Amino acid sequence: QRAPLVVANWKLNGGTDLMCASVASFVKKRFKAAIGIAPPYVYISDMVSFLRNSNIMVGSQNVSKFASGAFTGETSAQMLKEVGCGFCLIGHSERRQVFLENDASCHTKIERALAAGLMPILCVGENSQQHELGLTHDILYRQLHQALDGVSLQGQRLCIAYEPVWAIGTGKAASAAQVQEVHEYIRQELGAILGAGVAGQVDILYGGSVKKDNAAELLAMPNVDGLLVGGASLDPDHFAEICAIAN
Ligand code: 13P
Repeated sequence: QRAPLVVANWKLNGGTDLMCASVASFVKKRFKAAIGIAPPYVYISDMVSFLRNSNIMVGSQNVSKFASGAFTGETSAQMLKEVGCGFCLIGHSERRQVFLENDASCHTKIERALAAGLMPILCVGENSQQHELGLTHDILYRQLHQALDGVSLQGQRLCIAYEPVWAIGTGKAASAAQVQEVHEYIRQELGAILGAGVAGQVDILYGGSVKKDNAAELLAMPNVDGLLVGGASLDPDHFAEICAIAN
């Protein structure tokens, strides 16, 4: 059994104050759980140097589908690797909804991340309407296959984050039983795409209104390998408590 992976996604929040408070809160503690933090791009370099002597990984919330060139505002996988990122989120539902990213761009971004030596964390999940219509498996089937079909990991790590859109920022997390059922389905489809052996190595995280109050019961599920935390990660003490629960 691997140590759980707990990842903070600050989204468009935080700044130097939150960075300093988070670093102060984490460097004192030695967590057994693997921990990642994805601040906005501009804080990544400082975060990497502040956390140099810790085992905490720094990552990005997005990555360009392009390698280089005339693409104003973009940041490449190679650049993120160069400044010390260990992972990048890909296809977060906010990227899909607000910035019109699709499964094809997720596929390209995964290839870019792997080629640069970054661990992709592919975010998938159904919205509330799809959930109510019972379409969760269909949506996940499409998101997983279109992003991953034909991708070769060649020994590199991949994570999937199941984030039902209806649970993000709503305070209504999916139940542990729902999460377990969906993660089992994700593991099964990963097996079909990557082969059962490789699928067993993929960490499947849950995200959506994770708090210290529900972290333990979610992590107790056999197919939940970690958590992706939004709002609660903006309070360093709260996030540290979630990391301690994952220990
Ligand atoms: P919340 O934890 O705020 O619901 O956000 C989840 C999320 O989107 C993490 O990527």
